[in-house]
Amino acid sequence: MNGAHFAFTDRWGGVSAVPYEELNLGGAVGDDPEAVRANRELAAKSLGLDPARVVWMNQVHGADVAVVDGPWGSAAEIPSVDAIVTTRRGLALAVLTADCTPVLLADPVAGIAAAAHAGRPGMVAGVVPAAVRAMTELGADPARILARTGPAVCGRCYEVPEEMRADVAAVEPAAYAETSWGTSAVDVTAGVHAQLDRLGVHDREQSPVCTIESGDHFSYRRDRTTGRLAGYVWLD
Ligand SMILES: [Zn+2]
Repeated sequence: MNGAHFAFTDRWGGVSAVPYEELNLGGAVGDDPEAVRANRELAAKSLGLDPARVVWMNQVHGADVAVVDGPWGSAAEIPSVDAIVTTRRGLALAVLTADCTPVLLADPVAGIAAAAHAGRPGMVAGVVPAAVRAMTELGADPARILARTGPAVCGRCYEVPEEMRADVAAVEPAAYAETSWGTSAVDVTAGVHAQLDRLGVHDREQSPVCTIESGDHFSYRRDRTTGRLAGYVWLD
């Protein structure tokens, strides 16, 4: 599809043991590092990617963006950011989640891709608009940007205190939600899509999967000690 590729993993097809079974791709959740390395290789190969050409982030629920042109030299070089942008075709950008919203963006014409991690704090802080701005500064056109959001906790499941919902909705009204049992909630993915819409990014798709409701996905809110899913974006 025009040179842009988007992929989201589920929890199956890896080597991690309980409670990270099977395809845990997160390196900071207590899983065996060898299993994570093997899983990252399996996931990359299943997508036709070179595992050494996948760029990961040290995600911190902020709104900082890094522009990257290759894999980090060492773990110590991985910056604490929640969005990465590249102009390198063939370089895959990856985002880790287990309930937060993974956001993949690409302008295949300009040859610019981005991956962002939008949990509630990141969505409120504007990490996704920051990623779009970084893309446009490099020559992307919002009208050409394709946006895909992956499996995440849905607004009917993500219960928060009423005051927190009010604070979030004051920044992003589209994120105001109610749980299926009638209490206050936040819909982070709806907030992300509203932000993208205002920026002129209209070619958007949203995964129908709710991580809390799906037994095929990792959910931090459901299981606490668990693995991480990954979203990958790359351009031919
Ligand atoms: Zn749900």
